[in-house]
Amino acid sequence: MKQVLLVRYAEIHLKGLNRPYFERALLHQIQKLVAPIEHIQVWKGDGRFYIGGYPPHLEQRIMTEVCKICGVHSVSPAWAVPKDMGCIAENAAALLESSGKATGRFKVDARRSDKRFYLNSMQLNAELGGRMLEKFPGLRVDIHHPDFVLSCEIREEAYLYVDRMMAVGGMPVGTAGRAALLLSGGIDSPVAGYMLAKRGVELEAVYFHSFPHTSERAKQKVVDLAQVIAGYTGRLPLNVVNFTEIQEYLYENGPDAMLTILMRRAMMRIAQRIARATGCQSLATGETIGQVASQTMDALVVTNAVVDMPIFQPLICFDKMETVEIAKKIGTFELSILPYEDCCTVFTPRHPTTKPRLDRVEEAEAKLPALNAMIEKAASDYEIINLYRQSIL
Ligand code: ATP
Ligand code: MG
Repeated sequence: MKQVLLVRYAEIHLKGLNRPYFERALLHQIQKLVAPIEHIQVWKGDGRFYIGGYPPHLEQRIMTEVCKICGVHSVSPAWAVPKDMGCIAENAAALLESSGKATGRFKVDARRSDKRFYLNSMQLNAELGGRMLEKFPGLRVDIHHPDFVLSCEIREEAYLYVDRMMAVGGMPVGTAGRAALLLSGGIDSPVAGYMLAKRGVELEAVYFHSFPHTSERAKQKVVDLAQVIAGYTGRLPLNVVNFTEIQEYLYENGPDAMLTILMRRAMMRIAQRIARATGCQSLATGETIGQVASQTMDALVVTNAVVDMPIFQPLICFDKMETVEIAKKIGTFELSILPYEDCCTVFTPRHPTTKPRLDRVEEAEAKLPALNAMIEKAASDYEIINLYRQSIL
C-alpha cells in the first residue's frame, strides 16, 4: 500500500483538444508549491494528478495548500493498492479501521476507468460493499443518507479513500490572460481579484497610496491583502502608486461634488498605463452597481469612459453579504475590516454627485491643466512589491 494524495481537477476536464495545455499549467503549479518538500513526487495519471513520497505529518498541510491552487477541484488522501479484489478488500477494511469508520451507514462509490478490470462499477460496489458488511457487523448500507462514502477508483492502480477536501475550483492561473486589479484595502477588491484568479486570470495589483493622508499602516494592510491573494495565485506583483499630489490637486482645484469621480478617473488612467507596461489586456475593480455614490450606473459609466481597455468587475451584481461571505472564506475579511483609512474616504465630498455627466466631468478636467503631467509622473515612477505564496514548509 502506498499513501498518495489524489488531486481532481475542476473545469479542465471540460476542455477538448487543448486540455494538455491546461493540465501542464496546473501540474506546474502543484509541482512549484510542493517543491520544497524533499523526495516528494507529483505525477499525472488518467484524469487525475497524484502526489506521493511526502512525510505523513505534512499531509494535512499539503492538502490545504493544494486546495488553494486555482484549477483544483478537490483532494483526497488515498491508499494506492494493486488491482486485485482480495487486496482491495483487505486494504479497504484496514482503511475503515484506521480512519474510525468501521461502524455507521455507508455506501461504496466505485469507478472503473481501467475497463480491463474484471468487475464493472456496479459489480465492484456490490462486491466491496458486501465484503465490508461481512467484516464489520456495525456497518449498514444507506445509499441515500450515508455517514461516509468508501470510494474505490480503478485506474493505474486501485485507489481507496473516505475523505475529500474541496478546493477553489476554476482554472489554473495564467491560462486566461492578464488583468491589472485596482486593489484597495477594502472588502471588495480583494474578492474581485480572487474571483478573476479563480477563472485563470493572472493579476497585477495596483494600489494608490496617499501618504501622509493615508498611513503606512494602510499600505501595510494592502500588502497583507495582496499576500493572501498570492496564496491563491502563487505570485502577485503589487504596484504602489503615489497618489498624494493628484489627490491634493483635485481636492484644491476640482469641483467638490465631482471629486470622487475625478479621483477614480485619474486612478483608471494610471492603472491603464501600468497595465500596458506590464502586459495586461484588461483592468479590474471591485465595484458593485449602486453600492455608493461613485458606483451608480451613471458614475460607473463616466469613470470607465476614461480608459479604453475592457474593465472586469466580478462583483458588479453582488449584494454586500455575498461579497463578505467570499471574503471570509478566502481569508481577506479580517484584514479588510481593520480600521485604517483609505484614500477615498479621506477625501470624500460632502455631497457627491450620483448622476455625473461625462461632458461636464470632461469640462472640469480641461480646467485642471497640471493633471495630465501628474498622471504621467505617477504612472512612470512607482514602487513594485513582489509577493509570493508563503513556502509550504
Ligand atoms: P473596495 O472595498 O474594493 O475598496 P469600495 O466599495 O470601498 O471597494 P471604492 O472605495 O469606491 O469602493 O472603490 C471602488 C473600486 O476602486 C475598488 O473596488 C478598487 O478596485 C478601486 N480603488 C479604490 N480605492 C483604491 C486605492 N486606493 N487603490 C487601488 N484601487 C482602489
Ligand atoms: Mg474602498
